[in-house]
Amino acid sequence: MKKIKKILIGTHNMGKYKEISALLPKRLKKISPIKFGIKPPKETGKTFKDNSVLKAKYFASKSGLYSISDDSGLEVTALNNRPGVYSARWAKKLGGFKKAMRKITYLLKNKKKRDANFVCALTLATPDGKVKSSMKKLRGDISATIRGSKGFGYDSIFIPKGRKKTFGEITRKKKMKIDHRYLAYQSLKKKIKAF
Ligand code: IMP
Repeated sequence: MKKIKKILIGTHNMGKYKEISALLPKRLKKISPIKFGIKPPKETGKTFKDNSVLKAKYFASKSGLYSISDDSGLEVTALNNRPGVYSARWAKKLGGFKKAMRKITYLLKNKKKRDANFVCALTLATPDGKVKSSMKKLRGDISATIRGSKGFGYDSIFIPKGRKKTFGEITRKKKMKIDHRYLAYQSLKKKIKAF
């Protein structure tokens, strides 16, 4: 892959858009699918990797630009790794992230086993459909209550291993230096020369 000058960040989620944008080199011009009027695709994959490939290829073919997309979510071990690949849909069905987080803390009430993973699969697609992907997990625990309002999605109940604060209690700048998207990006960077 040659060095590229601009890239479409294939997501309609502003939390993710900001994080991926900040991970990419400053010299790259970043473009949102919203500017092109491109709607999100249907996420029909069964795995994080399938969905990130599906999204990156879709946005690259629609825009004619190199596109980067992630598929990510929260796997709670005591809930058989749910909500997993359905993290966004689960929250939508329950009426929002606050309700989804409340449900998870309720289901884990008085449970000793509180571990969870934030998972991210990240894919770069070329306009002619070639892809490179990486997947990484960040281990953590589910807090007893919802804490902090700085992040997005399930941030306010996730405490990374070895730390005390939830992702909702730390700044985005701090979070994005340790989270699952950061880990997946570092791994993807090693596989390609486009950045
Ligand atoms: P999707 O990848 O667009 O299917 O959405 C994944 C969902 O997982 C997001 O809408 C969030 O609910 C959740 N998620 C993924 N990454 C994060 C994160 O860094 N913090 C909080 N929630 C996240």
